[in-house]
Amino acid sequence: MAYDFDLYVIGAGSGGVRAARFAAGFGAKVAVAESRYLGGTCVNVGCVPKKLLVYGAHFAEDFEQASGFGWSLDEAQFDWATLIANKDREINRLNGIYHNLLVNSGVTLHEGHARIVDPHTVEINGERHSAKHILIATGGWPQIPEVPGHEHAISSNQAFFLNELPKRVLVVGGGYIAVEFAGIFHGLGAKTTLLYRGELFLRGFDGSVRKHLQEELTKRGMDLQFNADIERIEKQADGSLKVTLKDGRHLEADCVFYATGRRPMLDNLGLENTGVTLDKKGFVEVDEQYQTAEPSILALGDVIGRVQLTPVALAEGMAVARRLFKPEQYRPVDYKMIPTAVFSLPNIGTVGLTEEEARDAGHDVVIFESRFRPMKLTLTECQERTLMKLVVDAKTDKVLGCHMVGPEAGEIVQGLAIALKAGATKQHFDETIGVHPTAAEEFVTMRTPVAG
Ligand code: FAD
Ligand code: NDP
Repeated sequence: MAYDFDLYVIGAGSGGVRAARFAAGFGAKVAVAESRYLGGTCVNVGCVPKKLLVYGAHFAEDFEQASGFGWSLDEAQFDWATLIANKDREINRLNGIYHNLLVNSGVTLHEGHARIVDPHTVEINGERHSAKHILIATGGWPQIPEVPGHEHAISSNQAFFLNELPKRVLVVGGGYIAVEFAGIFHGLGAKTTLLYRGELFLRGFDGSVRKHLQEELTKRGMDLQFNADIERIEKQADGSLKVTLKDGRHLEADCVFYATGRRPMLDNLGLENTGVTLDKKGFVEVDEQYQTAEPSILALGDVIGRVQLTPVALAEGMAVARRLFKPEQYRPVDYKMIPTAVFSLPNIGTVGLTEEEARDAGHDVVIFESRFRPMKLTLTECQERTLMKLVVDAKTDKVLGCHMVGPEAGEIVQGLAIALKAGATKQHFDETIGVHPTAAEEFVTMRTPVAG
């Protein structure tokens, strides 16, 4: 049967755009539907604007530290509206780039909400298009628990567009987004509280990293409230929010920001017209080649709920395009050793196993850890310390994990990820000459184990 398209991609985010462009490059006839914004979450309400706000927040420290190097500044002033307007201008520019990338690769772009009407047909803007394969790349959406008064709270989607910087912000959650945005608000001058329901935030990260970040944020004056959860939120006459915690305490804030995870975006997608199945958490179920239970439909990225990171969605997009249209070049995505950074202030960078994971997996581990005051801060009053940690297998000498909390941790860990992927041993680290004077050289000069 002749179809209108070989591949119809729903969602022009990180994964969808990558799959569409490469499929078109392999000679396939491809369409992409996008209902909201070209480039998806990462470009519009995720990685990119977040990192710009993190840069903005970091200036507060730079100004403070500059005096140690002889600079004197009049009192620094911050204007939220300027930051947001400049950020929006940059995002608009990126939207244009994504548009050109798609169109110049020969992809047909349909702007509107797409709905699957049968396993080979998508409806958009009142028109139906048939396709041999349909790719669901619809991403995720913030999930706010339905506590009474939750309608007064915001998510990351709104945080990027606030008219003004709230004076007092209560950030709820202990994952990537909560920690990053607490750093943004705090750095920009808002009185910031981070409220997390568990013992210690960033569950799943290395224990030393979690503890170190807790200490650093506390030093900076951020209010960290662990073992705390919201019972209700009430709007007061003056517009401020009264928050009642489950333990009966009350907190006041001008903004309550929930960062409590993301659900798959499947709204009005028409999955009931297909055999696509969902897993226990509601994400689209796929096999190792991104095939759903419906033979003509594939899915990737945040909507399959594996690893919700842009580079992973990109790798999955590439794998899908190759699998369908260039099978001789197909390589499965390797989910091991995925490096990641949390752009908290200070940053976290990590790759490989945490100490806890390594021990649980039965490795006999040797731990190397270093904590030091970064050289840049020695002329300043700032007491921030950097943490670096290596988790090494005692039997094979292989480095199982590298973890860091400190300036540019994300930048540093990218190179380490290549070494770990190549199977580097501690001896390889020891034999590598450092780059001096840098913080990164500490990763190749740690000699004395702190734990075995
Ligand atoms: P998305 O990028 O979400 O794209 C899905 C697209 O589908 C959207 O544009 C949506 O509008 C569209 N869509 C949905 N339904 C339909 C429909 N029915 N019809 C038409 N279009 C539809 N990852 C990192 O690696 N580093 C970071 O620093 C980072 N920071 C983040 C910060 C925040 C605040 C958030 C929320 C996420 C962050 N992420 C980060 C995660 C990253 O953004 C996602 O993992 C990535 O965007 C997932 O890509 P995707 O292609 O699966 O989906
Ligand atoms: P995460 O899954 O990272 O964290 C969610 C947090 O919310 C956890 O601390 C969780 O607690 C808590 N939580 C969940 N449900 C509730 C609830 N009902 N009440 C109170 N607390 C709750 O999600 P995020 O929203 O922070 O981010 C989504 C994903 O986006 C991330 O996992 C990451 O993959 C990606 N991302 C990546 C970034 C990066 O690469 N730098 C930056 C931002 C996002 P508990 O641990 O107890 O379950």
